[in-house]
Amino acid sequence: MADTYDCIVIGSGPGGYVAAIRAAQLGMKTAVVEKDTVGGRCLNYACIPAKAVLRTADVLQEIRDADDFGLKVGEPEVDYDAVMQRRAKVIKTLTGGVAGLFKKNGIEYLEGEAGLTGDGKVRVGDSEYEASKCVVLATGSVPKGVPGADLGGRIIGTEEAWALEQMPKSLAVVGAGASGTEIASAYARMGAEVILLEMVDRVLPAEDADISKLAERGFKKQGIKVVTGTPVENVEAGDASVKFTYGGESGEVEWLVIAAGRGPDVGALGLDDAGIERLDSGLIKVDGALRTSRDGVYAIGDLVPGPALAHKASDEGIIAVEDAAGEKTHPIEYPDIPRATFCTPNVGSFGLTEEQAKEAGHDVVVGKVQYGAVGAGTVYGDRTGLIKIIGDTKYGEMIGGHIVGTRATELIQELVNAKALEGGYSEVARIIHGHPTLSEAVMEAARAADGWLIHG
Ligand SMILES: Cc1cc2nc3c(=O)[nH]c(=O)nc-3n(C[C@H](O)[C@H](O)[C@H](O)COP(=O)(O)OP(=O)(O)OC[C@H]3O[C@@H](n4cnc5c(N)ncnc54)[C@H](O)[C@@H]3O)c2cc1C
Repeated sequence: MADTYDCIVIGSGPGGYVAAIRAAQLGMKTAVVEKDTVGGRCLNYACIPAKAVLRTADVLQEIRDADDFGLKVGEPEVDYDAVMQRRAKVIKTLTGGVAGLFKKNGIEYLEGEAGLTGDGKVRVGDSEYEASKCVVLATGSVPKGVPGADLGGRIIGTEEAWALEQMPKSLAVVGAGASGTEIASAYARMGAEVILLEMVDRVLPAEDADISKLAERGFKKQGIKVVTGTPVENVEAGDASVKFTYGGESGEVEWLVIAAGRGPDVGALGLDDAGIERLDSGLIKVDGALRTSRDGVYAIGDLVPGPALAHKASDEGIIAVEDAAGEKTHPIEYPDIPRATFCTPNVGSFGLTEEQAKEAGHDVVVGKVQYGAVGAGTVYGDRTGLIKIIGDTKYGEMIGGHIVGTRATELIQELVNAKALEGGYSEVARIIHGHPTLSEAVMEAARAADGWLIHG
């Protein structure tokens, strides 16, 4: 007879592990199945290792800039082995934390690759398990590669790029979205020769055009060769290098990183047998409570539409199990999920860009302020950072927020929170902000949108 749980979660990434903990909190007997390592790709190969290495690049940059603050220090040296050791330690600490939370919440951890059976059970190896309330699919995504550059050998994906055994001498990064710019910005500052190639005519193409412009300026200052509006062609991987062409020029690098295109990891799930519908994109079709087309089966995170972000996966996990438990839950406003890119300059945003807002027919008002407008920008040494709030004048609603510069990934949250609490730009403009903080520039951008910028 199959072992029975109330809730079985497949995948232990930020979607799956959060879903499991919330399910256990709601009194469900819960198991998590994982085919690789607890914590999912986010903690083991993606978000966390990326940020650990980026942090090293940021500290390095601060040391190099020390002269501007009256400090004389010699040229710092990168001890790449030590960087990788710290990366491993960060991962171990955080994945150990997740394993501890499973224990604390009485969640059973089952090792193996799971799939659904036609009658809705969960198969792991030779064993079958039943879930009385819900099965949550949280198996994340895998890289797809791009035409003409198959992954393998010296052509690597983003996860491999953050785990290189030796400091790379040269890298070509294909795709200047969040992942590509983070890789370029980290390795360039640590001393690699980096070329960043983007087919669209600007870096960070999903961001507001003003943000892309400032980000590109920052990348070039770090020595990154930025090439936009040009596809990569004639990719030829050898044992020690990769050759390629772009817009009439040619390049040769140690590693070519494909930072574009991921697809849902559904290979082992047996979706067709279980009667679970997919969209044309290959993602699993779900409703607002993350229910799939099969009763009692939910899908979350990178398996379903919406931005492929860890915090989106976690929130969906909470909604799914709360729904399965018959609890009151909350809807997700997908456009208002904060987006963060941890390159330098840092980028944080939510909602629509100015162009998208105009196309959507909003009565657009823009409040734009550089960090230099407030004391903190000058004190902390970033006067060029930019805050841009996109409002709709009808009800004073904030329909987009875009920040590029120091701590943008933290600063954006204020606007997201204000919006979630139904605040508009005129409310943010009148909330007292501490002095001297960069958050005062957020308030000033809101005042600019409201028509009464003080420091402008
Ligand atoms: C390089 C990189 C950097 C990123 N940085 C950020 C960032 O800074 N911030 C951010 O928000 N997002 C970031 N992302 C995106 C983020 O990693 C994903 O959105 C997030 O991991 C999705 O979480 P998930 O729970 O859906 O899946 P995952 O984290 O992918 O976890 C899925 C887990 O399921 C397991 N699994 C798969 N199939 C099976 C099976 N059949 N049986 C058992 N187990 C299975 C996998 O082994 C894996 O452990 C980054 C992505 C990449 C590639």
